[in-house]
Amino acid sequence: MTYSELPHEPAAFALWRQAQDIRARSFLAGFYYLVAWLLVWLLSNQPSEQWPLGLAGIAYFGLLLLLRLGHRLPAQNAQHLLQRWLSRHWALILLSALGWGLALGWTLYSAAFEGSRVVAMMATIAFSTASVYHLAMRKHLSLLLLPLFYLPGLLVLALDWQAQRGHFIALIVYLSYLVMALSRNRQVYHNHLNLELKLLEQQRDLEELSRTDSLTQLGNRYQFNSLFPVMVANAHRQGEPLSLVLLDIDFFKRINDEHGHACGDACLSAFAERMRQVFRRDSDALLRLGGEEFGVLMPNTPLGQAQHLAESFRQELEDKGFDVQGNTLPLTASLGVGCFAPERDASAEAFFKRVDDALYLAKDAGRNRLALA
Ligand code: GH3
Ligand code: MG
Ligand code: MG
Repeated sequence: MTYSELPHEPAAFALWRQAQDIRARSFLAGFYYLVAWLLVWLLSNQPSEQWPLGLAGIAYFGLLLLLRLGHRLPAQNAQHLLQRWLSRHWALILLSALGWGLALGWTLYSAAFEGSRVVAMMATIAFSTASVYHLAMRKHLSLLLLPLFYLPGLLVLALDWQAQRGHFIALIVYLSYLVMALSRNRQVYHNHLNLELKLLEQQRDLEELSRTDSLTQLGNRYQFNSLFPVMVANAHRQGEPLSLVLLDIDFFKRINDEHGHACGDACLSAFAERMRQVFRRDSDALLRLGGEEFGVLMPNTPLGQAQHLAESFRQELEDKGFDVQGNTLPLTASLGVGCFAPERDASAEAFFKRVDDALYLAKDAGRNRLALA
């Protein structure tokens, strides 16, 4: 998945990241609960006599394993879908921990399981430690896992205080370590997540910056280069008219020479603003192609319509010029206008050249005019 396909909203991204992590990190646990229960059962004093309990455990952990495997991540990254997936997956995780906690409690309680107590304790320590390191992202749910794992076993040990207090105290000490590690791991997880969010935000800003001309806030040449071939290909495929208007300010060098570079810059900004007012359709792409040259890509627009808009832009510029820094500056532009024609334009470059040639015809013919390609 490329970064542009990731959820854009920080909240949605955080959910998406958690869902990905939880799925990857808890994937193996489903198998290990089943294996651990098999060991506990088969290492008990007389497994054949414990078959109803043995099979019940296999059914329980087997079912949870199947549910985990079948619980696929949502195809779309909508927040409510991710939220629902997370809630359901956490339910499976909590049910596994509860089942295992009860299994440990029973193993410690029943004399028939004396032979597999050590295995059950080791597995509990392994499962709970793994959860503290891999599933620390949620404050309450992650913490809830610990009593589910330990409470039944601790109760059984407490009831047999005289004989079992050593085990009881050892488990409590370990539990206190897990609680502290959990809070630290949650902090680390969220620090990483915030860092990743910041990085994504910066990546998007950079992308935006690299496509935008900073003076006029129009798309830049780079944007044009990536947009133009795609739009031409779409127009070709769908048989829809794509028009291109190229605009070049007349004698712009003089503005700079007579009024200074800052005034020239202000003119370029005002020119771009005027373009935004005339070429208003959402689908129009307004671009600064370089210096005092601009372009408008107009998908689904026939030549006549593009010519009409371009001519009204030129006329308004001729009539009004620009109010810049308190002065009204007369300013005109020359324009080339063309519509993509697959039978004439062998490529996007050929189409561009045809319109660019028209612009130069307009310049040669005396400027302040529009030429059709
Ligand atoms: P023509 O009618 O033939 O187009 O003449 P022109 O003076 O507009 O064209 P020319 O290509 O000779 O000069 C373009 C000028 O645009 C030269 C350059 O100083 C100016 N220019 C280009 N980019 C900027 C800019 O970002 N800010 C300012 N102030 N001027 C710029
Ligand atoms: Mg020029
Ligand atoms: Mg010029």
